[in-house]
Amino acid sequence: MEQKYYQLNDLVRADCHDCAGCSACCKDMGDSIHLDPYDIYQIQKHGGCSMAELLEKGIAAFTVWRGLIVPCLQMRPDTGACGFLHEGRCSIHSYRPGICRSFPLGRNFDEGGMTYFLLEDACGNRSRSKIKVSRWLGVQPAEKYHEFVLAWHDFRHELLAALKDADEQREKRLNMDFIRRFYLSPYKPEHDFYAQFYGRAKELRESDHFA
Ligand code: SF4
Ligand code: SF4
Repeated sequence: MEQKYYQLNDLVRADCHDCAGCSACCKDMGDSIHLDPYDIYQIQKHGGCSMAELLEKGIAAFTVWRGLIVPCLQMRPDTGACGFLHEGRCSIHSYRPGICRSFPLGRNFDEGGMTYFLLEDACGNRSRSKIKVSRWLGVQPAEKYHEFVLAWHDFRHELLAALKDADEQREKRLNMDFIRRFYLSPYKPEHDFYAQFYGRAKELRESDHFA
């Protein structure tokens, strides 16, 4: 069947009714649930937990994605479940990471921007209802969040391009600066996230080791 792509205002059969006791996609996900700066800001703001604490508690870890060091949720070695899963429920449901809140929608990036697609076989719930993509994502304003996800995707690809031509020393400096600016330096929870994010991206772009 041909893959369908959805825009923010489209209806899609993604609403699995609060997952109704299922937590299948919170287990055995390896290092695939990458965390972005908005996830860190939200967890810090609403859960009072910094990136350093997530690492210390073993809830998150760093992984290498195409040469770039990025943080991801870590599955527990004993149960294979995410460290935020308690008694079958996500303990940070209202501010869970973007990849989790999108599921069973995936993100598709192309030259025209970003669209969403349904990971039909990845979610076993067969009684899903139709819902507007923007409502399913549950972040307001949805357009601003959508723009950020796209900007973050593009920024990571700019970094990959810079890493491609970098020698070992520069590669190390870029990775360290990337992690420090976007993850380890706490965000100001009382301030707008987007202004902080775009400010940090501008600073890294203007740094000596990025060019
Ligand atoms: S953060 Fe929540 S929704 Fe995401 S994998 Fe962990 S328990 Fe599941
Ligand atoms: S597999 Fe579907 S129903 Fe189960 S937790 Fe994931 S999104 Fe929810």
